[in-house]
Amino acid sequence: MADSAREGILQRDKETYAIVPKIPMGMLTPQILEKIASVAKKYNIPALKITSAQRIALVGIKKEDVENVWEDLGMEVGYPVGACLHYVQSCPGTEVCRLGQRDSLHMAQKLDELLSQMNIPAKTKVGVSGCPLNCGEGFVRDIGLFGKKETGWTVIIGGNSGRNTRIGDVLAEDLSEEETIDLINRFAQFYIANAKGRERLYRFVPRIGIEEIKKELGLVHS
Ligand code: SF4
Repeated sequence: MADSAREGILQRDKETYAIVPKIPMGMLTPQILEKIASVAKKYNIPALKITSAQRIALVGIKKEDVENVWEDLGMEVGYPVGACLHYVQSCPGTEVCRLGQRDSLHMAQKLDELLSQMNIPAKTKVGVSGCPLNCGEGFVRDIGLFGKKETGWTVIIGGNSGRNTRIGDVLAEDLSEEETIDLINRFAQFYIANAKGRERLYRFVPRIGIEEIKKELGLVHS
């Protein structure tokens, strides 16, 4: 992947840059916070912004400092732009939330590992929730999941929360963790093989049709 994200995003002032390290599922530690704070002080970075993707953007970096900031941070690039997996967000699930029914953080980590290795055709956002209340916003993400204690995971595809708002379609329900990972893997391969250019999933899913996608993935028989 061409690493323009590592070079930073030029800001409105046309002089300084923003970078976004990867913070999987928005899970922070004191060490990560201390590292970001010390780097921000060292390079006089004027703004730290929590993004909608549960990451921390470092904003207002001088061009000549960008690579040194990355070196000092020692963190992966978060890919806030471009055709790829942008993020997997997750609610706290059974790790923390008293209403949690499934381990959403663990599932989100697995999906991040799976999807970040793939050449996905377009910007892709994933939301995982540990119960049907869907705090992880999966119905308005390209791929969404939520868990139920008794029956397992529900997989949703084709949602979007942007200008072209769309509530995603349920692809499958009552899946085990292994079945969920396998299905999303196969669906991603289908998407990669059949997308038109950089077609986002909120366009791809209605163009192909949810019932046709289910047939292609062997979820129903024609
Ligand atoms: S979706 Fe459920 S488990 Fe996750 S934070 Fe919301 S209430 Fe808790």
